[in-house]
Amino acid sequence: MFSLILLGTGSPIPDPKRAGPAMLVKAGNLSIVVDAGRGLMMRLASAGIPAPAVSALMLTHLHSDHTQDISDLLTTRWVLPVDAQPLEILGPSGTAELLEQTIETMTTDIAYRMAHHDDLIEPPTFNVTEVGPGVILERDGLVVRSALVDHAPVDPALGFRFEYEGKVLAISGDTRPCAGLSELAAGADVYVQNVVRRSLIEHSPIQRFRDVLDYHSNLEETGVTASRAGVSRVVLSHIVPPPDDSADTGIVAEVRSSGFEGEVIVGSDLLEIAI
Ligand SMILES: [Zn+2]
Ligand SMILES: [Zn+2]
Repeated sequence: MFSLILLGTGSPIPDPKRAGPAMLVKAGNLSIVVDAGRGLMMRLASAGIPAPAVSALMLTHLHSDHTQDISDLLTTRWVLPVDAQPLEILGPSGTAELLEQTIETMTTDIAYRMAHHDDLIEPPTFNVTEVGPGVILERDGLVVRSALVDHAPVDPALGFRFEYEGKVLAISGDTRPCAGLSELAAGADVYVQNVVRRSLIEHSPIQRFRDVLDYHSNLEETGVTASRAGVSRVVLSHIVPPPDDSADTGIVAEVRSSGFEGEVIVGSDLLEIAI
């Protein structure tokens, strides 16, 4: 079995229907979480994945909307009366320091719980591996590659390519079109792109909102990347601003305006896609 569950398809903008950026990749017995946005543990529970069953956490980059619920994942694995392995965390350079900072903020709670439970003899455990471009994981038939993508000034930022049983899943992370993104998406069966809706943002009077256009792919660019890469299915996530799911928002048409002729899926939380 090789599938993707969109855990959170939102962005920094709070939306009751969309948790923060997070996905679950299931490959055989592996359950790999990509990014740890707002509401991660609630969506994992909905997907039927208990915290100790997470095989690894991969981080595309260290923006808060992609990392803010790492502490919840660590704490939940730790307090459940199940012997969980140390959480494997793979992320760009800077991830080890971010984890040190995260654990620091958890100090008070860790002390309370260790004082209360005699069998909690150490704080939450995890192993951080900082990764760059290339193969970053090979396990049980799954190969994961990463490439540097362009989310400047966030540097480094990564995207991932999962290969399992002859199928390919590409996950963009936050990025504008770039060579690394094209490399990840090449020939993918499913290509997930974090997107912004330029047509709704470019005329906003708010400069800070217009700024987000600089370092993300918009809908038309997503179609161009997909066409060039020869992918058959595009999944849109991290949609800024979030669409009204009950209305035809023209999102698919905007991707198609690029000439892309494959399938376009507007992501929603807990949508599962077989690769
Ligand atoms: Zn970002
Ligand atoms: Zn983001």
